[in-house]
Amino acid sequence: MAVSTPALLSLDRALPWQDEQWQQLCRLLNSDRLPHAILLSGAQDTGKRHFATRFIQRLFCTAPVDDVACGECKQCRLYLSGAHPDFKRVEPEAAGKAISINAIRELSEFAVITAHQQSWKVALVAPVEAMTLNAANAFLKTLEEPREKTLLLLVHDQLAPVLPTIRSRCRVLSQGLPPPALVRDWLAGQLGDASAAVDDLLARAGGRPLRALEFAEANTLDDIARFEQVLQQVQAGEAAPVSAAAAFEGQPLNQLMEWLLAYYSRQLIASAQRGGGAEPRQFVFYDLLLSTRKKQQSKTNLNPQLVLEELFLSLSQSA
Ligand SMILES: [Zn+2]
Repeated sequence: MAVSTPALLSLDRALPWQDEQWQQLCRLLNSDRLPHAILLSGAQDTGKRHFATRFIQRLFCTAPVDDVACGECKQCRLYLSGAHPDFKRVEPEAAGKAISINAIRELSEFAVITAHQQSWKVALVAPVEAMTLNAANAFLKTLEEPREKTLLLLVHDQLAPVLPTIRSRCRVLSQGLPPPALVRDWLAGQLGDASAAVDDLLARAGGRPLRALEFAEANTLDDIARFEQVLQQVQAGEAAPVSAAAAFEGQPLNQLMEWLLAYYSRQLIASAQRGGGAEPRQFVFYDLLLSTRKKQQSKTNLNPQLVLEELFLSLSQSA
């Protein structure tokens, strides 16, 4: 299965905000002290899977140069083709779905067999919080029986906490949002564009670099601008909330929620920067946004249109 990252994101290039963690892991590897389980924890869309994919290739590579996989050797080619027999990827079948106990049972079997290529054996579990409780309990057994030259690499998108019993058995590498200046330079370099569009993209993506890159690739900025225009009209009392919400019927709620959150966060920041601070009713609305997103992430069955109407109504009263 292909790695699901933006098409523009090149696997041979490091993400600059990950340099320190990369060096840390390479030092451990080179001194034969690599832990058997690593938990990469960080904000969504900051490149944790990209980091994991590169590091796993580094492990398999037989001719690394300056701690970077060569991309040419047999092991590198096998891994990049997606057919390396000593690599196992455990993911939900679709975004937002759970990782089942069956997937973890397969992983346990993989962990006990002998490596085909007499080198490392690696399993990537992403995101770890997608495991069902049963799956997580089954996974603990594998985690508790470390094997020579077998690495369990867990990615945590911080959408839900990781069980303490799992977390405590891993070396945790955690990272928040990367520094804005670094991200801006990187994105400008990726897009070959240092214009204001880079700032617009990052603002809409809440500072998450890979999300901003996806927006650029999919030309999402125009759609967001149209949505934000309606939000402004609702706030200004120029559009009726319910009919305004009806115009977005059928569009994925998680996407609209993301845009709405980024839009409203910017307003709160702007209020704070003007020195007046935000009004209590603005926080009431912001709380509603956060609690709605939480409900949505916990897979509660929501009626998207009703949710959007409620949010628009509340937005019209928040201004
Ligand atoms: Zn190589």
